Amino acid sequence: KKFPGDFSNNPMQRNTPKVLFATIKPAGFDHPQLIAFNEALSEEIGLGKFEEKDLNFLVGSQLPDNIQSYATAYAGHQFGNWAGQLGDGRAILAGEITNATGKKTEIQWKGAGATPYSRRADGRAVLRSSVREYLMSEAMYHLGVPTTRALSLAFTGEDVIRDIMYNGNPQYEKGAVVIRTAESFLRFGHFELMFAQGEHKLLQDLLDFTIENYFSEIITSDHQKYKDFFEKVCSRTADLMVEWFRVGFVHGVMNTDNMSILGLTIDYGPYSMMDEYNLNFTPNTTDLPGRRYAFGKQGQIAHWNLWKLANALQPIINDEKFLESTLNNFGVYFWEAHDKMLCKKFGFDGLRKEDDEFFSNWQGIMQELELDHTLFFNQLEKITPDTDLNEYFSPAAYTVLNEEKLRKLEDFIEKYQSRLHSNTISREESLELMKTTNPKFILRNYLLYQCIEEISNGKTEMLTKLTQALENPYQELFPEFSVKRPSSYDDTAGCSTLS
Ligand code: AMP
Ligand code: MG
Ligand code: MG
Repeated sequence: KKFPGDFSNNPMQRNTPKVLFATIKPAGFDHPQLIAFNEALSEEIGLGKFEEKDLNFLVGSQLPDNIQSYATAYAGHQFGNWAGQLGDGRAILAGEITNATGKKTEIQWKGAGATPYSRRADGRAVLRSSVREYLMSEAMYHLGVPTTRALSLAFTGEDVIRDIMYNGNPQYEKGAVVIRTAESFLRFGHFELMFAQGEHKLLQDLLDFTIENYFSEIITSDHQKYKDFFEKVCSRTADLMVEWFRVGFVHGVMNTDNMSILGLTIDYGPYSMMDEYNLNFTPNTTDLPGRRYAFGKQGQIAHWNLWKLANALQPIINDEKFLESTLNNFGVYFWEAHDKMLCKKFGFDGLRKEDDEFFSNWQGIMQELELDHTLFFNQLEKITPDTDLNEYFSPAAYTVLNEEKLRKLEDFIEKYQSRLHSNTISREESLELMKTTNPKFILRNYLLYQCIEEISNGKTEMLTKLTQALENPYQELFPEFSVKRPSSYDDTAGCSTLS
């Protein structure tokens, strides 16, 4: 099988066959300024307490002697097209650290300078995108969604040019560095690169390494392990998509180079938490009009990406029938996990055949009444048979609930209550399911936007408050955050792809 794409006639592409990485030092910044440090994570991974002198390390200016930093090469399919070789263009790995229990964590600077894979870009990151990555990855972690994490956020003291032209002049933004951590930052794209270059030996080595280090659940050691591996990547990826649907997360750029082989949420760019329920919602303004990466398509796209991964693994797995049938099972596995997740959101005892119709009915109501995904479930916990639905759901709706709409809602709630009645679990157990599945706090885009404005103006009150809220997403610490997006904010405020 010939793989599409040809690096050789693209001058911007620095093609590096036979190598998975390049050693590279961060650029170094003289006037760093700390904005946030994640003490709990630092302790957890074995880095310990933060001291003033560590600030230089946090922006990559001072490296301990035992660190050989590097950037990795990967490839990818972007917006459905083969994009050839890419790589860590502005991410540099410091290596990994082992904590007291033996758990290993990779540490990576994002925005600390150019690498051999930066092409013409600068390897820098701006404050806006760095705050977005720092806060959202931690918000996802505390929601219980598999994700990379964030250790620190610091200004570099350097201004970065982003090609936003203001009256013909380039606009400068403050540069920043985030340290992010993960068990591994390996992506689908790493495997695609080895395949595209015909490096089957390296591909197999990379597979062996990945299985040995990150898939301890795979106990087969012969050739079967590669098949088990592919099945695991499929199920982990499906599980991740279900989690995104549970909390209403839209990634925005599900290219294969942004797909973690471990099933983690990775590369926080023009993502958004969804306010009003809308399967077509995309925060990525460059993904119009196609909306390839819209909220409701994420399961399908994950599946598409797994096809590309299967294609890359075929030389090693060498069993097209197996790969095809595994991919065909993806949909079945995904939808069952998805519907079981919805059952928990509604407080149902378990998935029944007839729930299918109930769920489609629900989707229709949510979309038509423009109900807030998070507030809807929070309100659902509170209602009793004599609740005034208008009073309870109007604050969660982005459109006026006229009589016709209220009638539809009433109908739906009636069906919901009769389904609850048939539960074999107690009302308390049902409520417990709802309370642990439906967050009370989500890091809405407009809140992030406000927070970034404040930090740009030298204030950090909102950063502190949002950090507290996102660390306790199943509680309502601040009632002012439990409201729908004010109409003065656009649903993609701050979701720039310029990063
Ligand atoms: P993304 O769309 O953010 O996943 O990025 C796609 C590719 O572009 C990745 O390989 C990034 O490393 C690279 N990239 C994005 N921004 C920059 C930048 N400012 N400097 C260097 N490389 C970048
Ligand atoms: Mg990326
Ligand atoms: Mg990015």
